[in-house]
Amino acid sequence: MKEYELGFDNFRVKGKNLLGGEEGKGFKQLMETFESARIQTAARAVGVAQSALEIGMQYAIDRKQFGKSLIEFPRVSSKLAMMAVETMIARQLTYFSAWEKDHGHRCDLEAGMAKLLGARVAWAAADNALQIHGGNGFALEYQISRILCDARILNIFEGAAEIQAQVIARRLLG
Ligand SMILES: Cc1cc2nc3c(=O)[nH]c(=O)nc-3n(C[C@H](O)[C@H](O)[C@H](O)COP(=O)(O)OP(=O)(O)OC[C@H]3O[C@@H](n4cnc5c(N)ncnc54)[C@H](O)[C@@H]3O)c2cc1C
Repeated sequence: MKEYELGFDNFRVKGKNLLGGEEGKGFKQLMETFESARIQTAARAVGVAQSALEIGMQYAIDRKQFGKSLIEFPRVSSKLAMMAVETMIARQLTYFSAWEKDHGHRCDLEAGMAKLLGARVAWAAADNALQIHGGNGFALEYQISRILCDARILNIFEGAAEIQAQVIARRLLG
């Protein structure tokens, strides 16, 4: 990513434009957005994992080595099977946390779990799909190299993996 600096020295803003409308409540208001933000990041992670699965599978069907499609090698097809299983689990946990949110229930635990798991699953799926591409996976011409980069950020933003683990552990401890 590229970074830019913004400066707001002596930049006056009218009180009626205060974000959130109430002075001194910004932190609390921000915290309230985190459940939704984590659920949508988990959903993005599921999308990345699904994309890696589809691209890895297509490549494994198309690429022939030693007279066979790669998908006929059990070590390749089992990678795809695990991607499908893990993506399914991440998707269902994400739907469950979204359902809890839609019903007005507290769901920081579920949202944190969905985000933590989704990011790991997306990374594992992208890494395995890249592995299936062999050397081509490292080439910019192949979409999977971009998917690996996209997967990596999911463990960092909207609450890094370590922070999700902390939120989960805190709730488990009561
Ligand atoms: C592409 C991109 C988009 C972003 N978009 C947004 C955005 O839209 N809005 C926004 O507000 N921010 C955004 N961010 C910022 C992002 O949320 C932070 O980068 C992220 O929260 C990590 O903070 P940090 O970079 O300061 O890392 P640090 O806080 O310095 O953390 C570095 C490492 O130490 C670990 N660590 C830190 N504190 C603890 C702790 N207490 N316990 C255990 N481990 C800890 C972290 O998990 C991480 O592994 C974006 C970042 C990127 C790269």
